[in-house]
Amino acid sequence: MSCSRRQSAWSPPDSVSRVSGIVYLVGAGPGDPGLMTRRSLELIAAADAILYDRLIPPGALDGARADAELRYVGKEPGAPALTQDETNELMVELARAGKRVVRLKGGDPFVFGRGGEEAEALAAAGIRFEVVPGVTAGVAAPAYAGIPVTHRDAASAVAFVTGHEDPGKPGTALDWEALARFPGTLVFYMGIKTLPLIAERLAAAGRNPGEAVAVVERGTHPGQRAIVDTLGGIAARVAAAEIRPPAITLVGPVAELRETIAWLERRPLHGEVVAVTRARAQASGLATRLRELGAEVVETPAIRIQPRPVEGELREAIGRIEEYSLVCLTSPNGVRLLFEGLGQTGGDARALAAATVAAIGPGTAAELARHGIRADVVPERFVAEALVEALASVPVEGRRVLVARAAEARDVLPEALRKRGAEVDDVALYETVAEPLGDDGRAALDRATYVTFTSSSTVRFLIGAGAELPPAARVVSIGPVTSETAREHGLTVDVEAERHDVEGLVTALVADAESRRGALA
Ligand code: SAH
Repeated sequence: MSCSRRQSAWSPPDSVSRVSGIVYLVGAGPGDPGLMTRRSLELIAAADAILYDRLIPPGALDGARADAELRYVGKEPGAPALTQDETNELMVELARAGKRVVRLKGGDPFVFGRGGEEAEALAAAGIRFEVVPGVTAGVAAPAYAGIPVTHRDAASAVAFVTGHEDPGKPGTALDWEALARFPGTLVFYMGIKTLPLIAERLAAAGRNPGEAVAVVERGTHPGQRAIVDTLGGIAARVAAAEIRPPAITLVGPVAELRETIAWLERRPLHGEVVAVTRARAQASGLATRLRELGAEVVETPAIRIQPRPVEGELREAIGRIEEYSLVCLTSPNGVRLLFEGLGQTGGDARALAAATVAAIGPGTAAELARHGIRADVVPERFVAEALVEALASVPVEGRRVLVARAAEARDVLPEALRKRGAEVDDVALYETVAEPLGDDGRAALDRATYVTFTSSSTVRFLIGAGAELPPAARVVSIGPVTSETAREHGLTVDVEAERHDVEGLVTALVADAESRRGALA
């Protein structure tokens, strides 16, 4: 059967088909960047213009195109950046100019996000639009606090309620008797200032003053706080704890389940702020592992990798790489840049077919594997001395050896190989240069409870640039060489990894955090 001639019952008005622009009303979720939908990230990456609110997750716009127009249109309480009408007009204008516009909102765009009004305005103007739901705070913040909004035994309905309205003023839109009678969980958005009145009104209308209430501040963010009390007691507790917006108030027996279900606080690095000082391009693996374990990670890169141009000595070495009987690589960056250089000189992995290939550690070996080379030698401990030992059985006397690495690397490896009679070419693929910390970086570092150093250069550049670590922060080093440099720079090393790689560093940090928590308990 062919459908090609079927007329659709609905055809867009002329004004719609004429414009090529489009607006996406997109929910960005409650704050944890991991809760952004795949669709939202795709649309952000493709957008010509992004109009965003205040409550979007940190880094939500990182994937935007460099030439995209990013515009804050949020409404600070009391100080609107743009009025709602101006925001609507701006969306229409941009779409009429043929742009792909993302209107990015916290949580879900249609849950207290004025997304409904914006969609109406777009429809009225004949602008094409799509709606991309997001994870709403009223479900996510309780979930991160260990509270299911429904439960077979404790709540078979849930109501989303605005706490924005002044419950004292006559003619309020909320029917307090109906809410008091509602057979399920009540979730109030925007109700922190009005919480005392909300609690009072609900109790006066017949809700049990002994019923459990939870307030979740900055739900799903690293600094999330949650308080559980009763309807009668919650307002005083919240005032004493100085809870501030954004916060969700949840009324219902499900709040009692937090005691059993709370999971966030039980993660091994909950409450820790860990500074990662390695180059931004390399930080993600370590940062991801730490976040998985519950830490808040602040990236305070001290260094940046600056590739050397493939010319002169380096170009020569890469151009005749077939002639080396042993090739040693001492970092994943080195591997990546060696293969880039090979590509530039017209070669590929086959140039290494006859050579013995040595990697200093599993990260370097993994990068080699990504380029189709299985390392022949990987030492157990990932320092130059261990690589020297591991190479003891590899014949080098009278043979050509290539050591390709950072410009500022130690000479242990080439010297040891020369001593054994090898003809060593020691070439630099890149330099490690300082990355200035900046005010944001300094402020982030100040909050750190752990500062991680994954190489001597991270110590040298961070401390050398005059950065001061917060006195209570614990210093974590990836291994003895880095620790030595740290001590030379006046630091006390609190934790040293036994295995000198990312996993080893994470393991040591977690063990330290757990033993300290144990000591406090
Ligand atoms: N569209 C959003 C809600 C916007 S109204 C959504 O679907 O989540 C703003 C209110 O949402 C805040 O006043 C607060 O009550 C709630 N909120 C938003 N983010 C929150 C968070 N991370 N934790 C707790 N409450 C949050």
